[in-house]
Amino acid sequence: MSKVLYEKDIQKEVLQGKKIAVVGYGSQGHAHALNLRESGYDVVVGLRPGKSQQKAEEDGFQVVSVADAVSQSEVVMVLLPDELQTAVYNESIKPNLQAGNAIAFAHGFNVHFSQIVPPEDVDVFLVAPKGPGHLVRRTYEEGAGVPALYGVYQDVTGQARELALAYAQGIGAARAGVLETSFQEETETDLFGEQAVLCGGVTSLIKAGFETLTEAGYQPEVAYFECLHEMKLIVDLLYEGGLENMRYSISDTAQWGDFVSGPRVIDENTKARMKDILTDVQTGQFAKGWILENQANRPQFNAINAKENQHPIEKVGRELRELMPFVKQPLQNKNKQQKD
Ligand code: NDP
Ligand code: MG
Ligand code: MG
Repeated sequence: MSKVLYEKDIQKEVLQGKKIAVVGYGSQGHAHALNLRESGYDVVVGLRPGKSQQKAEEDGFQVVSVADAVSQSEVVMVLLPDELQTAVYNESIKPNLQAGNAIAFAHGFNVHFSQIVPPEDVDVFLVAPKGPGHLVRRTYEEGAGVPALYGVYQDVTGQARELALAYAQGIGAARAGVLETSFQEETETDLFGEQAVLCGGVTSLIKAGFETLTEAGYQPEVAYFECLHEMKLIVDLLYEGGLENMRYSISDTAQWGDFVSGPRVIDENTKARMKDILTDVQTGQFAKGWILENQANRPQFNAINAKENQHPIEKVGRELRELMPFVKQPLQNKNKQQKD
């Protein structure tokens, strides 16, 4: 088994006394900046004028331009949206990096796919929390943490690995476990996971189940509860104790159905298509498409997004969630308030 590191394995000293620029104050940025500060580190936030800037200032941070934040700091964590990083990097980050500084990322995409080519005289590492930024913050406040992967792309000071580990510890990840990876492995597994399983796989599975039931004449409300709402309850059981724990909790009838019908839904053909998706990720085909889509101002992204939001499962879901006050307000709305 690969070695998972915890707080006791990590030397904090390498990062102490170093100024850290957190560039961006969105989902990951706010969590990193707040957690690092509470872990005792010196943080400056780099932003453009706008909503995030206001929020970071309200949270008590010194907020300066990205260029100034980079000039002032020894460690620069880039927490901008992946598709905007290259432009901001070329304009404001690269010209202000000094030899011996470190530049860091929470996802390897731009470095791995050569959109950002860091200078040869800086450390380059990644600390990628395996969870949404809002949970990186919430779990830290609760005394826990979200696990993270760390990886070193370039080590000029001889300390890049220790820096990455201390950084991971500073955001609370070492409370949950930190595992070494490479930029390549992190990027490819992250892209594959979100496409085939976590986001693309799950939304397509839910929609296909909902459509099958409603097209057969069942009530959309019943189909919503069955295929979407209950998903969380099942996933919680999986999270806590794996497949066995989930199967222990469900009825034997459900478990038998799981055994005989699950493999009919996800079969060898599905797996073959998953392999195709992985190949597209590995060859850079997916990355190229996403980079070009952004250069074209996202015509397909926006069209698909608008259509998806009109799906009948979304309409019935919005109505039902209104009637379930215990279902928390979606993060999406909170973020809108934060971003608008
Ligand atoms: P968000 O979209 O939530 O936040 C982006 C931040 O960047 C905002 O504060 C935004 O400020 C700021 N920003 C955008 N453009 C500029 C600019 N030109 N100059 C200065 N600031 C700018 O991003 P995420 O936190 O989701 O993603 C950040 C990184 O973390 C990505 O690499 C992503 O892959 C990675 N990651 C994200 C995860 C997540 O939970 N979301 C999980 C793991 C990794 P403004 O308000 O001004 O727009
Ligand atoms: Mg991702
Ligand atoms: Mg049932």
